[in-house]
Amino acid sequence: MFCTKCGTNVKEDVKVCPECGAIITPSLQAVEQDRTGLLQILFDSSFNNLLTLRIIRFLYKIAIFISILAGIVVLIGSFFAVGLWGIIVGPILGFLTFVILLIIVRTYFELVTILFKIAENTSIIAKNTK
Ligand SMILES: [Zn+2]
Repeated sequence: MFCTKCGTNVKEDVKVCPECGAIITPSLQAVEQDRTGLLQILFDSSFNNLLTLRIIRFLYKIAIFISILAGIVVLIGSFFAVGLWGIIVGPILGFLTFVILLIIVRTYFELVTILFKIAENTSIIAKNTK
C-alpha cells in the first residue's frame, strides 16, 4: 500500500504515514468498488484467475447474452400484448427482465466464486501449516 500524499510504501495496517504524517485511507480499491454502480458490477466479468472461475467468466458472458435476448423477447412480446402501450411498457419491462435475470445469475456465480475462494484459501493455509 502507498501513501496517497507522498507515495511512501507503508504497511497495510498503518493508519498514519511515517514519512509525511498523512492519514492513510483504506486501500483505494475499496473506495473504487463502493463507487461502482449496479450496472458496472453486472458487466464486470473479471471474477478471478482460477480455471473454474475462468469457466464461470465464460458462462457469465453467455448469461449476459441470454439476458439481453430475454429482454428483447419481452420487449417484442409486450408490443403484441398491449399494442401501442408497448412503446412505453416494452422497453421498461425488457430492461427489467434483463437486469433481474442478470442479478440472479450474478448472485449464483458469486456464491460459487466464494466457495472456490474458500477452497483456495483453505488449501493455501493447509500448505503453510505443514
Ligand atoms: Zn506520506
